[in-house]
Amino acid sequence: MDLYKSTAHELHEKLVKKEISSVELTYNVYDRIAEVEKDVKAYVTLDKENALAQAAKVDKMIAAGEAIAPLAGIPGAIKDNISTKGLRTTCSSKMLENLNPIYDAHVIEKLRADETIFLGKTNLDEFAMGSTTETSYFGTSHNPWNLDLVPGGSSGGSAAAIAAGEAIWSLGSDTGGSIRQPASFTGCVGIKPTYGRVSRYGCVAFASSLDQIGPITKDVTDAATVLNTICGVDAHDSTSLPVEVPDFTKALKQDVKGLKIGLPKEYFGKGLDPKVDAILKKAIADYEAMGAEIVEVSLPHTEYAVITYYIIAPAEASANLARFDGVRYGYRNMKATSAPEMTTASRTEGFGSEVKRRIMLGTYVLSSGYYDAYYLKAMQVRTLIRKDFEEAFKQCDLLLTPTSPVVAYPIDGKMDPLAIYMLDVCTIPVNLAGLPGISVPAGFADGLPVGMQLIGKLLDEETILRAAYTFEQAHDYHKVMAPLGGK
Ligand code: GLN
Repeated sequence: MDLYKSTAHELHEKLVKKEISSVELTYNVYDRIAEVEKDVKAYVTLDKENALAQAAKVDKMIAAGEAIAPLAGIPGAIKDNISTKGLRTTCSSKMLENLNPIYDAHVIEKLRADETIFLGKTNLDEFAMGSTTETSYFGTSHNPWNLDLVPGGSSGGSAAAIAAGEAIWSLGSDTGGSIRQPASFTGCVGIKPTYGRVSRYGCVAFASSLDQIGPITKDVTDAATVLNTICGVDAHDSTSLPVEVPDFTKALKQDVKGLKIGLPKEYFGKGLDPKVDAILKKAIADYEAMGAEIVEVSLPHTEYAVITYYIIAPAEASANLARFDGVRYGYRNMKATSAPEMTTASRTEGFGSEVKRRIMLGTYVLSSGYYDAYYLKAMQVRTLIRKDFEEAFKQCDLLLTPTSPVVAYPIDGKMDPLAIYMLDVCTIPVNLAGLPGISVPAGFADGLPVGMQLIGKLLDEETILRAAYTFEQAHDYHKVMAPLGGK
């Protein structure tokens, strides 16, 4: 049986009814990994032995008649910048090639408490800095829809694993689009929760005021299910919000009647691939036919979002990555003869060029004399961007935009970094404003998946989940399997 093709909610039913065992399921997914991983390269590390032991434990629980959580016994994959006790966590960097964490991230603790299964750790752009996985020290992951193309990034490994059937559910992290953009490029569902919904404890910090962990899954129901497990306040993260976590699966109603969907006109202009535009126009017409009301809105500061982000994110990264000095942990150059020489050599050799570019940029914008001109100014623009959304939400319940202005592009490492940065234009403003955003499959352009982004008000994941679910159920885009073609 091809169990690896199923969703978590389908498999949960089968486990509870004892139609399948968790061990059987886990073997089935590892068999699939053995079959396709050489082409996809979604994983940095696999953990088969522990995964199978955990599966056997869940099977015993079921046999004993114990009630199990929705993700119990269902194998998932974890982005390799999320700390897993005893399981190597590299951030796809030479710097942390041999790091074995001594503690679990908060989300991992919660998932373990629900008796889920971790297949392994997935590839990412080094320290989550990038949009393609090409900056990974371990090599690029490939897009299961066409292996010559990037799967997106930085959570490209998590997205590729889902699209290729190498995991049932996965976790990514999103600082400027790293969950939603790879979900869009690979035909998956990816949600970045409201900033503070999920604890960042144990997610290796890139830009702390923007980072947020979230699920990448095959459908909206699974996204809501994973969200139910990972959300919640945590004493280890003072920015995690002490608010009640609803049961997100209850929001999954097939009904958008009366919902007001705003289309920010700035997101449908120059630079948008006409094929992506055509698919979104059709999705908008579908929503209208299903009873939603469409209104045009404006987010006037959108054009400043990318440059604002590329000041704030590197500034925070330069501070966060200062801890990797070859002293406490991480790669160390053993030939240096003095402490300063050792730090310099360790950082020079341990980090890749994109990470170094960001550290230098971040150090520059924070340096005395430039702080006011760059960092402070960027923080002021961030406030304007947040206010744009507040104004827009006075006229609608949610916003609909492309997730990315383009579909997946070739793996060749030739793209100018600046050109890649510009493609983050649809996802970055959502992080700057701290809002929840989901990417759902909206159709195909020349056989490649196109994602639609729905943006919600603060802490209103429920409305975007409901709208995403309604669209998904009216189409079968999420059911099409990636062909693993190309090459
Ligand atoms: N592509 C963006 C960047 O390179 C976003 C990355 C992310 O969300 N982690 O910074």
